Amino acid sequence: MSHELVIVGGGPAGMMAGLLFARAGVKTLVLEKHRDFLRDFRGDTVHPSTLEIFHELGLLDELLRRPHNKVAQIGARIAGQFERIADFRHLPVAAPFIALMPQWDFLDFIAQAARRYPGFELRQSCAGESLIEEEGRVVGVRTSAGDEVRARLVIASDGRDSHFRAGLPLRVIGAPMDVFWFRLPKHEQPENDSMGVFDSGRIFVLIDRGEYWQCAFVFPKGEAERVRSAGLDAFRTRVREIGPETAGVDRAIGSWDDVKLLTVTVDRLDQWSRPGLLVIGDAAHAMSPIGGVGINLAVQDAVAAANLLAAPLARGENPDPLLPKLQARRMRPVRLTQGVQKLMQDAVIAPLLNQSGTLDRPPLAARLLNAVPLLQRIPARLVGLGFRPEHVECSDAYRR
Ligand SMILES: Cc1cc2nc3c(=O)[nH]c(=O)nc-3n(C[C@H](O)[C@H](O)[C@H](O)COP(=O)(O)OP(=O)(O)OC[C@H]3O[C@@H](n4cnc5c(N)ncnc54)[C@H](O)[C@@H]3O)c2cc1C
Repeated sequence: MSHELVIVGGGPAGMMAGLLFARAGVKTLVLEKHRDFLRDFRGDTVHPSTLEIFHELGLLDELLRRPHNKVAQIGARIAGQFERIADFRHLPVAAPFIALMPQWDFLDFIAQAARRYPGFELRQSCAGESLIEEEGRVVGVRTSAGDEVRARLVIASDGRDSHFRAGLPLRVIGAPMDVFWFRLPKHEQPENDSMGVFDSGRIFVLIDRGEYWQCAFVFPKGEAERVRSAGLDAFRTRVREIGPETAGVDRAIGSWDDVKLLTVTVDRLDQWSRPGLLVIGDAAHAMSPIGGVGINLAVQDAVAAANLLAAPLARGENPDPLLPKLQARRMRPVRLTQGVQKLMQDAVIAPLLNQSGTLDRPPLAARLLNAVPLLQRIPARLVGLGFRPEHVECSDAYRR
């Protein structure tokens, strides 16, 4: 079976690429190994830069009809004191806020929008197994269904554990933490109360998902077994100490089965393509959860890839000479973002988790941000728009 484009991995990068390429008239197949999008171990933050892309596609109002919470300002409880640190309300975009939307809704929405184009196909419960190569060029994918799908281009967007990026040079940046991920009950409030909690020896994130908290308990990398071996009661006590928000922990966590381990990885490829193959999203650059920017960078890669390649692919041209241009465009924002994440990891996360840093009161930077609201626009811009926000330039081949 032949397509112009096969995308391996239906996460934010792969689904967005699928939508944009199909919209531009490219016959596109997305392979996703899972049966559905119902997994809760990925982030939920759809940032202003991503919302702007939906605005450019004329899909923003429809997207925002899906269940979501608007976060216009972000704060953190540091050494027991609440500090406001970012204010998105002044960003020059159609939706100046973070939309907290369960990722399954977000991906399902993109799939629904993509299915309006005749060239789009999403095959779920179907994994890409290996690349088909001929004369040094990737020409397709063998799938878990036992068939071979040939294409002019394969995009690998199979996430941080990418199998399809194998062989390309990888630079490991590393992270000092891993995360336990679980839910706690809460009452629905009109305001979204998501926040980070920072104290000596303690980093905890509370994501307000309406009727429950999605919690991230951050601990030193590789120490999951040590935390578990201290026992569930000790863990519950540490969670309860976070504050009134976590009071329901005893009822909510009955066993370790309720607590998922998420390992944090930060790395990037030094080379994102080879003839017939392009790697994007976490597969090209696994992002730290700091700033919740991973989904958005993955989407930006997809937009840049479609801007660069959709028209030539739709015309039936060989994409190979263009492939290195994607890396040339996207590497700088990725490197800068990972640089800021690494700085935060080294200066804040590692010292706090290892208790080499004590925290009697919030650091000067946080107090300054809280005291001078104008300054809160700087982190809002860095997190909300990032270093090189992309815009949709590829055409809609079906627009009358
Ligand atoms: C603890 C934690 C919290 C995070 N929180 C946030 C957050 O709040 N906000 C944020 O923006 N980012 C967050 N991130 C990062 C974010 O999850 C990723 O950056 C983002 O999901 C990357 O998107 P992607 O499409 O490149 O890859 P993924 O989301 O990993 O998607 C890859 C897809 O490929 C599929 N797949 C894999 N192999 C195959 C195969 N062989 N065949 C077919 N399909 C395959 C997978 O099932 C998956 O659906 C977090 C990360 C961690 C670790």
